[in-house]
Amino acid sequence: MDNNQLWQAVLGELELVISKVHFTTWFRNTGVIDWSGAKVVVAVPNNFTKAWLESKYHKSIIQVLQNVTENQVSEVEYRVEAGKKAEAVRAAARGAEAADVRHLERPAVGSGSSEPLGAVSASGLNPRYIFSSFIVGKGNELACAAAARVAKEPGTKYNPLFLYGGVGLGKTHLMQAVGNELLRTSPHLKMLYTTSEQFTNDYVAAIKSGSMDRFKNKYRTVDFLLVDDIQFIGGKEQTQEEFFHTFNALRDIQKQIVLTSDRPPKAIPALEERLISRFEWGMIVDIASPDLETRMAILQSKSQERQAALNDEVSRYLAINIQSNVRELEGALNKLLALCELNNTPPSLEAAKSVVSSITMSQKKGGITSRELLRVVSEYFDITLDELTGQSRRKELVVPRQITMFLMREELDASYPAIGKELGDRDHTTAMHAYGKIKRDQDADERVRQDIMFIRQRLYNG
Ligand code: ADP
Ligand code: MG
Repeated sequence: MDNNQLWQAVLGELELVISKVHFTTWFRNTGVIDWSGAKVVVAVPNNFTKAWLESKYHKSIIQVLQNVTENQVSEVEYRVEAGKKAEAVRAAARGAEAADVRHLERPAVGSGSSEPLGAVSASGLNPRYIFSSFIVGKGNELACAAAARVAKEPGTKYNPLFLYGGVGLGKTHLMQAVGNELLRTSPHLKMLYTTSEQFTNDYVAAIKSGSMDRFKNKYRTVDFLLVDDIQFIGGKEQTQEEFFHTFNALRDIQKQIVLTSDRPPKAIPALEERLISRFEWGMIVDIASPDLETRMAILQSKSQERQAALNDEVSRYLAINIQSNVRELEGALNKLLALCELNNTPPSLEAAKSVVSSITMSQKKGGITSRELLRVVSEYFDITLDELTGQSRRKELVVPRQITMFLMREELDASYPAIGKELGDRDHTTAMHAYGKIKRDQDADERVRQDIMFIRQRLYNG
């Protein structure tokens, strides 16, 4: 038996117990490149595949190898081999792709061990949203200076601090930077980060269950209150009333309040006059779109964060072609890095061009539809559409469902009620919860991050 025959035999066994999507995703372009006695070296096309095989399929691979070699093999090494030895790998891979695949078992999704990469702190703040990772440039320098001032001397000068600006321009980042800095310098003080939607839900739940005391205790005893996207409180009279009292209680005793909004207080529809005037008491500052230099600097910083090297030509190209907001810019960078990681190539201008054109193309087409998204997710997880949108609470269905909700929000900008409706007529709070959970899991759970990355790949590259 030569290397190739060995690997063919292994693949033949594995395909019986792994779902089709996972089998082709993880075993395409793999092959045995070295086999001497007890040790087998398996070539894989990139680091993702290596990590995945090591963490998820290693046990099965060893077991099958032992079966087919009558226990000769006891050790497997996975080695990234791009280009080199490609022929041997391709030969073996042909077997994998041509395989007549049977589904005998579904892999458990989103379960199992995975290494945490960092997590959201107890306060609900994202630890990556700090001042040092926030690039200052024209458009945000005033906001950044005000935020830094508040972090240094909370409760004194700018109270409340009211940050406003368009979507994806760094309001949440800057607000959480204040929070993270305060947690660092005053760890003993109480910090509460929330959104106005969460505040509303809490309030409604408190009334329903007659636990207003607990609600008041939660919101009125903090030292720092950060409320994201306060504009959603517009039109909600009861909530506004309650927020008004919370605001007064805190500000009266010099507790710092920070608010963000997509527009200035006066422009928030159906916001009570007395709240408008309270919001204007402190410091109101807007965040505008970053200029080209700043966009390039942001790309540099984000790629360094991810230990990828982006040359000037590539970052200039991205920064020139994606101007709308920082979130989109970051999205483009993520796509570019994912593409390059998959193909094990450095981020080239050519790759950047194809990413930009796939983004502009999907925008021209009116973007992807929720139908396509549901189809891609269900295919990826190897479950049916009915299962995805159904009522079963089995974990292998719940996680894909939550990931779908997350992606509907991120990729389609769908509203929470619309997302809930699309996914089996669920309440909007379920969609909100799912979004928050997956957003956190993405940072803490490598598998979730990879699932999302692969689904995005499929969405945009077919
Ligand atoms: P908003 O709350 O205004 O919609 P976010 O704060 O969520 O926007 O920012 C969107 C993304 O862009 C985040 O990942 C954030 O880290 C990033 N971002 C925005 N502005 C900057 C900046 N000046 N420097 C670094 N990253 C930024
Ligand atoms: Mg935000």
